[in-house]
Amino acid sequence: MRRWIVSILCLSLLCPVKARAERYVALTFDDGPSGRFTRELLDGLRQRQVQATFLLCGYRLKEYPQEADRICREGHEIGLHGYSHACMGTMCEDALRRELEDTLALLPAGCRPVFLRPPGGKSSPCVTEVAQEFGLGILRWSVDPKDWAVDDAQKICRTVVGSARDGDVILLHDMSHSSVEAALAIVDALSEQGFTFVTAKELARHKGVTIVPGREYERF
Ligand SMILES: [Zn+2]
Repeated sequence: MRRWIVSILCLSLLCPVKARAERYVALTFDDGPSGRFTRELLDGLRQRQVQATFLLCGYRLKEYPQEADRICREGHEIGLHGYSHACMGTMCEDALRRELEDTLALLPAGCRPVFLRPPGGKSSPCVTEVAQEFGLGILRWSVDPKDWAVDDAQKICRTVVGSARDGDVILLHDMSHSSVEAALAIVDALSEQGFTFVTAKELARHKGVTIVPGREYERF
């Protein structure tokens, strides 16, 4: 018996179980809320107990306030994506301020965004300036499967799963059934590989990054 115990101890010293470092990624959804697709997505995320980040547009918030309330109530993060979804890269500061103020006014009570994602990721010195003024970091992305142009959930899923690394910010849109199906398949596949899904704000926290207003972040 003692010999067995000694052998097991020796083996465990020779082959230490390597502690696997935690890997985190953030799913981010632009352009919503969008009614039934947002609801489908929220149902799937709730089933999987996963939190994501939703970059919302003012003109859609006006149309779907209940979906925005649900996003907030279910513990997801809300960020700003402008009011009109017009390109912010060419807007003057006053127009940018209006885009943000009009969107903030429509957000659920108590919701305080920390990120702005300009439509198309198009920034400018004015965007930086106004983001600073509003206390918002600029959230870009590091994985983009162009889901808005690919009507094939499996293909979108393969692109993301094939390239995802610890700290990635994944760009998707809750605007079509294929995007929602892909998002949930991505959660299932990457969870299986040991990834944990968190909001963008949480991802920054896990990586020890303090969000600086006006600064751009692609990944953490
Ligand atoms: Zn967009």
